[in-house]
Amino acid sequence: MLNKKKIAILGATGSIGTQALEVFREHPDAFEVEVLTAANNADLLIKQSQEFLPNTVVIGNEALYDQVFQALDPLNIKVWAGENALCRVVEMEELNLVLTAIVGYAGLKPTMSAINAGKHIALANKETLVVAGALITQMAAEKGVNIYPVDSEHSAIFQCLVGEFHNPIEKIVLTASGGPFRGMKTEQLRQVTKAQALKHPNWEMGAKITIDSASMMNKGLEVIEAKWLFALRTEQIEVVVHPQSIVHSLVQFQDGSLKAQMGLPDMKLPIQYAMGYPERLASTYPRFQFTDYPQLTFEQPDPKSFRNLGLAYEALKKGGNMPCILNAANEVAVENFLKDRIGFLEMSDLIEHCMAKASFMEKPTYEDYVASDEETRNIATGFIN
Ligand code: NAD
Ligand code: MG
Repeated sequence: MLNKKKIAILGATGSIGTQALEVFREHPDAFEVEVLTAANNADLLIKQSQEFLPNTVVIGNEALYDQVFQALDPLNIKVWAGENALCRVVEMEELNLVLTAIVGYAGLKPTMSAINAGKHIALANKETLVVAGALITQMAAEKGVNIYPVDSEHSAIFQCLVGEFHNPIEKIVLTASGGPFRGMKTEQLRQVTKAQALKHPNWEMGAKITIDSASMMNKGLEVIEAKWLFALRTEQIEVVVHPQSIVHSLVQFQDGSLKAQMGLPDMKLPIQYAMGYPERLASTYPRFQFTDYPQLTFEQPDPKSFRNLGLAYEALKKGGNMPCILNAANEVAVENFLKDRIGFLEMSDLIEHCMAKASFMEKPTYEDYVASDEETRNIATGFIN
């Protein structure tokens, strides 16, 4: 590669962020770390910065500014703090690409800021498209910004679409592992614990997405994410449970042909593809062996026991700010489940309640999304207390 891509990682200390840095370690000729950010993990942010020597770092928690400044100022690394700094740092002239690996609604504003500044996006933060997909895709089109998916399913679809630009998609099929509770019915799900929900069979991820995977909300969010990334109608998006997580997703074209992308479950691959696109960079990661997987199996999801997937489809069909309401309610639900304040099934009750109670808006602006997120969080908190 002639020019190294200069990249900002928002959320460098998380599961996606740290795996992205492993990709940088493998490809020092292709990528350069320009910006690193974290919310609270100052120790790791400092360690990462000492290794990768970014131009600027942002620590979200302003109380930790002094610690980070004292460690990094001698290395000539600029240190900023606070939420506004996140939105400003992505405007830096040198940046070619911003990897959004923050979790939740907090990713929306800095992503908008990056798009406004004309930076291409490698999008891990799916909540951004769930909350404001119409707005984000419109802004990206106006600014000529590409959004490269990092989510493994969407990366699979994106890879299947290479060379197919003029061929309409009949439908896509998103695969879901089914999570730790696959096959369980409502009565069993009532008893499950936080510790069980935090043990995902195939992927090591941050706490929020791990709970979302156990409840199938992750797949619901991914259905909405897919709609915006690939300009699909709701009826064109299907979900199939595939417990081995080898087939990462599929596209069916008008001739009935299905294309799938496969590989071992390893987020470094979709991260690297999003950062390196259109090139496929060589990697030494373990290869898939057919003999290790004599059977790849597929089954229907169980919407009766896992209600979140149905709620997400409902939100998508309703449109407007309903996916924003779904997302805010889910963030409150997961947070309270992780604090042992509500049970596993009550998460769906809470989301359903918020979708019925929060004010609906057909064509929300950014300010409407902010208001809707806040209103929903209040309704959700009231429901719990
Ligand atoms: P994580 O919790 O491991 O890491 C989150 C990162 O964001 C951390 O660096 C944290 O410091 C930062 N952060 C958290 N809250 C913040 C806030 N309010 N402001 C600024 N920074 C904040 O999460 P993760 O598992 O890496 O997931 C990140 C995103 O990627 C999520 O949207 C998730 O759905 C998506 N994703 C993750 C995986 C995965 O394998 N982990 C796979 C697909 C998609
Ligand atoms: Mg995924």
